Amino acid sequence: MVSLHGMHFVAGSAEAAGGEVFHGMDPVAGTNLEPGYAEATPEQVARACEAAAAACPVYSATEPATRAALLRAIADGLIGLGDDLVKRVQAETALPAGRVEGERARTVMQLQQFATLLEEGSWVDARIDHGDATRAPMPKPDLRRMSVPLGPVAVFGASNFPLAYSVAGGDTASALAAGCPVIVKGHPAHPGTSEMVGRVVHDAVEKLGLPAGTFSLLHGRTQDTGGALVKHPAIKAVGFTGSHRGGRALFNQAADRDEPIPVFAEMGSANPLVVLPKALAARGSQIAEQVAASCLLAQGQFCTSPGIVLWLHGEGDESFYVALRERLCSAPSGPTVHSSIRDSYERAMDDLSSLPVEVDRGTASAAPGVAEVCPALLRATPEAVLNNERLRSEIYGPAMLTVACRTMEELQQVIEALDGHLTATVHGDGDDFASHQPVLSSLRRKVGRIIANGVPTGVEVSPAMVHGGPYPASSDARYSAVGTTSIQRWVRPACWQDWPQDLLPAELQDGNPRGIQRLVNGKIES
Ligand code: NAP
Repeated sequence: MVSLHGMHFVAGSAEAAGGEVFHGMDPVAGTNLEPGYAEATPEQVARACEAAAAACPVYSATEPATRAALLRAIADGLIGLGDDLVKRVQAETALPAGRVEGERARTVMQLQQFATLLEEGSWVDARIDHGDATRAPMPKPDLRRMSVPLGPVAVFGASNFPLAYSVAGGDTASALAAGCPVIVKGHPAHPGTSEMVGRVVHDAVEKLGLPAGTFSLLHGRTQDTGGALVKHPAIKAVGFTGSHRGGRALFNQAADRDEPIPVFAEMGSANPLVVLPKALAARGSQIAEQVAASCLLAQGQFCTSPGIVLWLHGEGDESFYVALRERLCSAPSGPTVHSSIRDSYERAMDDLSSLPVEVDRGTASAAPGVAEVCPALLRATPEAVLNNERLRSEIYGPAMLTVACRTMEELQQVIEALDGHLTATVHGDGDDFASHQPVLSSLRRKVGRIIANGVPTGVEVSPAMVHGGPYPASSDARYSAVGTTSIQRWVRPACWQDWPQDLLPAELQDGNPRGIQRLVNGKIES
């Protein structure tokens, strides 16, 4: 049995001391879980940041094979935690065992994918333009360029992915792979899970003989701790997954620094889903079943949960709505990962009471003090959606807004009024796609990933994945937070001009000692 001691890991030192103590909570029983975790003190934040800055020159210069070994050691350590990890995640989040096991497999696979990427090596985007001393009227310099790490990264994970977007999740794995030391601010909803995983990373750093400041984990539940981390001059970039409110607050703090730094914030999304006429007529009830199941997954606690469903009036539209309502409103209430998610869901429902929207809900069976939410189906006219911003944004939880439009132009107008989202989904049969090109083109401009005849939940971890989208889905739509391209958030390009061969990074030397794919004089080197 892995025992927990309320530990921060501050640059190689496990320490329980700190400020005010808080506990993880069992969201089902509404009771505190032991042990307590002390809020990180400003001194601990500063020490972690200074150690990360000191580690940076050594860690960023490690061989790719060393960083690959670190990532694999972390992956092995996670597997080694066995059922103890699954049980602690369940106790802190009420997520079912199957979901936790799946998330652990995904977290391990992410780490392994980055290890393989480091060994393959082309991610550094090496480019060599040979010089020409004889060029007239000016000699041409020898230029060699590749990506280099930004420096220490602060990582904030979301409560709904206690493993895959937390201490050793995608942001940490990609930043460590890039050669950046990492300081994680643990999510206060799962501090025990964070401690278990933090110890695995701490042990892996130690085992590989890497500088102690390569990794730190700080606990805290006040925004001051996260704020102090983002403002510390040693931090050079921030990875955030969570609410729009949190992401925007950190983005503003980073922009206000003397030296502004990039914040890669992955925030909420309502993930519009459009059902085109032939698909609606032919398989409306099947689509309703599929979409409702996607919305109900983990009580809607996915950033890719379908939150707005749109279609055109016509054959099958009322029965589609009825099928959605029956499926959603008969679904039982279920636990949220922590009580503030239930509270903000209930606040969103209260906000709707003053808006022109019909709300159908089952009855919550939760006892007082227990964090449960009850699914809801909402119905609004296109005019109501166009006139009320709240109807166009995420309600985090098992709620879905339905909007039936009279014409394709009206449907397109509603889509044009949407902000950026992570995904959009379109269901179409026959010539549905061909005859609704303007709708498809509007949707494509609003999102990072567009899905045909499926559901938006289930984010594959793969090199071609885009998990991000135009603001406010993410703070920088040029990057993905999932998949191996997410490493590009933590690097910048650097160029060596007329530099001596033996002092160049191995990736840029003439002999290509790493054997990586490069662009030499404008052509892929063979
Ligand atoms: P959250 O409340 O925003 O928390 C995320 C992290 O940010 C926590 O560590 C939190 O620390 C910190 N934080 C929030 N506000 C802060 C502030 N003003 N200053 C400093 N730190 C701050 O999010 P959540 O409730 O865990 O997750 C739910 C949301 O995440 C949903 O909107 C969901 O759509 C989104 N999400 C997005 C993705 C994605 O990939 N796009 C994935 C999963 C979830 P404290 O708790 O200490 O404040």
